[in-house]
Amino acid sequence: MDCLKYHIKNVWLVRGDGSGPVRGEVLVSADGRLLSCGPSYISCGTVIDGRGKMLVPGLIDVHGHSDISVIASPGGFSKVSQGVTTEIAGNCGLSAFPLTERNREHLEELYAQYHVPLSWSSFSSYRQLLKEKECVPDLIPLCGHNTLRAAVAGYEKKTLDRAEAEEMKQLLAAALEEGAPGLSTGLLYVPGKFASPGEIIELMKVLAAHGKIYATHLASEGDRLLESLEETLMCVREAGLKKVQISHFKTAGPANWHKLDTAVDMIQSARKGGISVTVDRYPYTESMTQLSVILPGEWADLDDIAIEKRLRNSEEKRELARLLSQSRSADYWQRVRLVSTGVEKYRSSCGKFLTEIAGDPVMLAVELLALDAAGTCAAFSGMSEENLTRILQLPFCMPGSDGNALPADHSLGRAHPRAFGTAVRFLRRLLEMNVSPGEAVYRATGLPAETFGLTDRGLLRQQLRADLVLLDPEDLEDRADFASPHTPARGIIWTMVNGRIVYRS
Ligand SMILES: [Zn+2]
Repeated sequence: MDCLKYHIKNVWLVRGDGSGPVRGEVLVSADGRLLSCGPSYISCGTVIDGRGKMLVPGLIDVHGHSDISVIASPGGFSKVSQGVTTEIAGNCGLSAFPLTERNREHLEELYAQYHVPLSWSSFSSYRQLLKEKECVPDLIPLCGHNTLRAAVAGYEKKTLDRAEAEEMKQLLAAALEEGAPGLSTGLLYVPGKFASPGEIIELMKVLAAHGKIYATHLASEGDRLLESLEETLMCVREAGLKKVQISHFKTAGPANWHKLDTAVDMIQSARKGGISVTVDRYPYTESMTQLSVILPGEWADLDDIAIEKRLRNSEEKRELARLLSQSRSADYWQRVRLVSTGVEKYRSSCGKFLTEIAGDPVMLAVELLALDAAGTCAAFSGMSEENLTRILQLPFCMPGSDGNALPADHSLGRAHPRAFGTAVRFLRRLLEMNVSPGEAVYRATGLPAETFGLTDRGLLRQQLRADLVLLDPEDLEDRADFASPHTPARGIIWTMVNGRIVYRS
């Protein structure tokens, strides 16, 4: 049987459908498919001894941002070292397509640190490049609403005219037909924040017609969490949409921690009403995003290039510092941590709180924005550990790292530890909560595949992709922290993508 590549023996199989573990063997074909998963009566190909450990389908990170970083780092070390073989990318409204002359320059600035020429235009030309570069994990990108809107109307604050709205719908339909699993929004970022509910509903109708999913970074995850969730569900009902993913579901800020019950009730009642609302979460209590989210008032409507331009003027710098001091309490800055920046002078301070880096954290923030608004990212504390546990317990919660594919070194910038630890920490936390191994693995494999319509993976089943992970459930431990964010997790013995072993611990 010369088409056989691997014969994996002596393993406990957890199939990704909620069942298991059971003893079994797996045969992998030379073209990267699963030939059989169960008892085996033949023995040929290269034998791999699983040493009595657990063999599971490749883990699916449903919320990543590796869109460009994976091209600069095709080995995807941060992902494959935690067993992630597929990432749903294009999240929070930010995708690498469609590109037009209206958004290309902005995205080149945003991704400048990766030195990747943005030479494609559509979903299919972008995916083709990922294939040529042999990027792992396999990226399945959503179409991002911010990129989509900017492709037709740029980044300015404006209402779309009829022709622009129509062009946007056509571009979305084209991406969906080429294989994008859905649309993502980031409704607190420019220019998504300028969209009316009507604009979103029109796009949702395109999704509904194609049977695809809407994944949303809500307009507010804190003070207006319930209103934002309510509006999303209202739009979904009006558009007749059936699948919604709430990205990095959380209650941000202690004043909003009590809102979890109501938010979960709203989701549960939508689910009872026939809408498949699902959520993802990174198992950490510090968020991370661009530092520019701290901007107050009209500053918050500027895109990165406009922020940097405006802050070349020292008068404007002083004015922004004054506004920031007014709008944020002094202790706020103790909760803001610099994670990465292109500003050379502060590279060695990454991982520290702004108050640890400078005597005047406000001026520091202004300086970082002036020099690198596009590339400076910060972490913000303010989530509840107890709510995190409760969110992870929801049977429709999946792992979403919100992180990038990165190498072990810091050549492409430093990460939030979630980029290297989410999947392993997610599994470990579930097992510690006495969720069965079958169920825990399902949440990171079968459930994400079902949710995002990936029919060729997520299960140990004949003919599916041989995306496999051999892991030791007793040894699972994420080890990355803010001081050493690129430390790989323990417990992942090897990771196989499409029949090729891409990582060994
Ligand atoms: Zn987001």
